[in-house]
Amino acid sequence: MTKTLQVYSGPGSGRLGKLRLDFNENTRGCSTKVLDALRSASAESVSAYPEQDEFRKNLARYLRLKPTQVLLTNGGDEAIRLVLGEYARGKKMILPEPTYSMFRVYASATGARVQRVLYANDLLFPEQAILNAITPGVSLVAVVNPNNPTGTLASRRQITRILDKALECGCFVVLDEVYSQFAGRNSVSLLGKYPNLSIIFSFSKAFGLAGLRLGCVVSSERVTRMLSEKSDPYNISSLSLIAGEAALQDVDFVRTTVKETKENVRLVSRELELLGVRVFPSAANFVLANFGSSAKRVFETLRRRGILVRDVSSYPMLEDCLRITIGTKDQCLQLLREVKRVLSAPAFLFDMDGVLVDVSKSYRQAIAKTAEFFTGASVSPIDIQAVKEKTGFNDDWAVTSELIKNRGVAVSRTLVVKKFQELYLGSGGCKGFCEQERWLFDSNLLQRLSSEFRLGIVTGRPRQEAFAALERFKAKYFFDCVVSLEDCPAGKGKPDPYGINLALERMGAIASASFYFGDSVDDVSAAVSAGVRAVGILPPGVPPVALENRLRSKGATNILQSVNEVLEVLA
Ligand SMILES: *Cc1c(COP(=O)(O)O)cnc(C)c1O
Repeated sequence: MTKTLQVYSGPGSGRLGKLRLDFNENTRGCSTKVLDALRSASAESVSAYPEQDEFRKNLARYLRLKPTQVLLTNGGDEAIRLVLGEYARGKKMILPEPTYSMFRVYASATGARVQRVLYANDLLFPEQAILNAITPGVSLVAVVNPNNPTGTLASRRQITRILDKALECGCFVVLDEVYSQFAGRNSVSLLGKYPNLSIIFSFSKAFGLAGLRLGCVVSSERVTRMLSEKSDPYNISSLSLIAGEAALQDVDFVRTTVKETKENVRLVSRELELLGVRVFPSAANFVLANFGSSAKRVFETLRRRGILVRDVSSYPMLEDCLRITIGTKDQCLQLLREVKRVLSAPAFLFDMDGVLVDVSKSYRQAIAKTAEFFTGASVSPIDIQAVKEKTGFNDDWAVTSELIKNRGVAVSRTLVVKKFQELYLGSGGCKGFCEQERWLFDSNLLQRLSSEFRLGIVTGRPRQEAFAALERFKAKYFFDCVVSLEDCPAGKGKPDPYGINLALERMGAIASASFYFGDSVDDVSAAVSAGVRAVGILPPGVPPVALENRLRSKGATNILQSVNEVLEVLA
């Protein structure tokens, strides 16, 4: 039997030298005392097997515990693995999510059945839901406090209520408190009262030793003994022990880190909120922020500018969210400067037909063939363009009806639409004209544009046909917003600015900093009414019936030969 294991993708390579706001490390580095101690390490300390006792004793004193309650681990991660291996192997555990993904990874490796409890509205701690989930069949409850990536802090009362219920049900509790220094408190004092409790700490965060892999799990003496039987006696390198020892000697380093971090969490939260970004309250050294439809673009643009943040949008409840580690004031200001730049970038809105997609062999062909079907008379591209250039015929069914009417034939709109759709989409085994469409946007240019600007589509196409084209040409991913026929109430199609206004609103874009690219007079009029800059694009396969002049007279500020010239409008 094969089973898919959850995997965690670590940092890999290429992060050093960048502004690393993606893994909640201490971006100040570590205490100079740690570096001094490492530099003066002796040959013997490297050539001998590591001895843990001295450091364990000092760490226990720091935590006000007995050394026999402390098990040193290779980072907090090994502690999670040991506890889950002991208390969740093949059993049921409760995990409030979204949370640190290693819990799922180790749960999956040890065959635990994870019962997810979602965080409450506004990502508050789901105390009641956890209490409800704790029953005699549950073996382990894991709580990360403060939680990563939400920053949520559970109160001491909430934690003790969970411990009480768990004790009643014979259930073990592990608290991951690797961010506790930033919250200003931990749960060590509860160990005396609760034999069913382990707490995990790490030197990776406030102490700044993530590269050395040093952590611990503290519990009752009995539990510590049990867990240590499963751990490797040489799980910590001698240099990590030396560094940990020195780190404990410099509590000022941690105190300063915590003080500055808290100030900067406030700074970044306040500034992001002024930009309209929702920021969740955080008790740790990071903030979780919801960037809405701009999330991917913010993430990508920051990355290209050497600022790494964490994309957590695939976590449950965290769609459109990024997690940002809070560093020094300078680092925060650099981040905010770039975020501001991205969020105030203009939005580029496009008409679809004739601009993004060459429809001279599809919709225009369907217009001609439908009109010919009902009238028996031939219809030329010039005839079609002449109707299109009048105002008020923004959908192609209306254009077709008009051409039929002009030839003195009366046919209901319903019949026109039916015939037209048959020809466009295909029917009875016949391929439709839609297959003749051609994508006009250079894919490299589109990709580059989408990583720098917000892109949207405002089209008179039915939604399904708009998305079918975007799927067919693999372009859906690049657009933040698509406004189609069904999004606009009757009578609100172009030249009414309704669709453009709707797109601006959905994208949170400012009209005066945005552009609409279209190929008809109604496109230009709609753009002008919406207060965005109107740019005319001459559609392929259309005879130049002085279109350029007509677009200009309606208010187009630029005329382009093709959508691939879009960057000219910024010049
Ligand atoms: C970073 C982190 C850890 C583990 O860190 P180590 O580097 O393995 O010590 C554990 N839990 C949470 C919630 C974390 O964010």
